[in-house]
Amino acid sequence: MKIETLTVHAGHSLNPNENEPIVPAISLSTIFERAEDGSYKHGYVYTRASNPNRRALEQALVELEGGKAAAAFASGSAATLAVFQALAPGDHVIATEGFYGTTKLLQEVMKPWGLECSLVNTSDLAAVSGEIRPTTKLIWLETPSNPKMRVSDIAEVARLAHSAGARLVCDNTVGTPILQRCFDLGADVVMHSTTKYLCGHSDVLGGAIVSREEDAFFQKIRMIQAVAGAVPSPFDCWLLHRGIRTMSLRVRTQSENALAIAKFLATHRAVEKSLYPGLETHPGHDIAKKQMKQFGGLLSFLVRGGREQALRATQGLGLIRRASSLGGTESTIEHRASVEPPNFGTPENLLRLSAGIEHVDDLIADLDKALGKV
Ligand SMILES: *Cc1c(COP(=O)(O)O)cnc(C)c1O
Repeated sequence: MKIETLTVHAGHSLNPNENEPIVPAISLSTIFERAEDGSYKHGYVYTRASNPNRRALEQALVELEGGKAAAAFASGSAATLAVFQALAPGDHVIATEGFYGTTKLLQEVMKPWGLECSLVNTSDLAAVSGEIRPTTKLIWLETPSNPKMRVSDIAEVARLAHSAGARLVCDNTVGTPILQRCFDLGADVVMHSTTKYLCGHSDVLGGAIVSREEDAFFQKIRMIQAVAGAVPSPFDCWLLHRGIRTMSLRVRTQSENALAIAKFLATHRAVEKSLYPGLETHPGHDIAKKQMKQFGGLLSFLVRGGREQALRATQGLGLIRRASSLGGTESTIEHRASVEPPNFGTPENLLRLSAGIEHVDDLIADLDKALGKV
């Protein structure tokens, strides 16, 4: 079935009994009764290990990405941590210079644990292959990258990873399963911060790992999920599963809005540069066109001047909200350098904008008014 159909129905056909509710119930019980013979008819024992709402969400994620197995977590960061913890001390990881949280997790948590890590601009294939070592077990790819909007070639990086005997994991948070089919392009594992486009309403924190195969590596992630216990609540799973039903409509509109905004910003006199893979001038445009259906709802731009001008541009906004995160129905804008450490490398004049589903004319009018005061 097509992705638009899957977003509505995936994970909803687990109990095809007659007269079942169409909208699933929220199963709050932490414990499940054994049969007289000691067995558990549905496999549920204790909700840290599994729960009907989590299982339905995981089934939906499997169907949406086209994988074999999925594990839902309490946040994207917890999902990311489980992947790294499924490796062994002494193993080496190559990761995209992208989302600050993943970088910090690698440097401050996994490095002391014994994981070796190289952070590179993965849109440069020579830079990726130059970092491959005999101990390289995993390449962590984030494309488009947050917030610099760099595009990496998933199929080419998959080839590099596999020729080195390493796995390719794609952080598909910004790409979304609607626009970017990572398994078709050669990825072994897909990670999501479901907080963003899958939830879509800025009211649930969540994460997920989807695996192309239900192999030993995935089993280890599943074990970490149950044993370490960074699991989402039944209500969060239910909300996420509900949010997914409208994802294809949201992401399509967000992508159209982001493209129109990026084009508007590209020619605005107060803007130095508009960073969006959908622009023909973007260095990753051809690759993005090859591996994405549309170019997504996230964009960044450099305000002419520096930090002061960038902050001033956000002050004049009346509709676009000054807030972190991305993927909600409402448009949000963030000065990333303010929330990252000074040496992280995000330009002081960069603003990241998450396009919502409002009418694009209203969004552009808001930006035009605010940029006019810079
Ligand atoms: C938000 C985000 C994460 C982290 O997810 P949380 O749900 O905030 O823990 C990871 N990767 C990307 C690209 C993100 O945008």
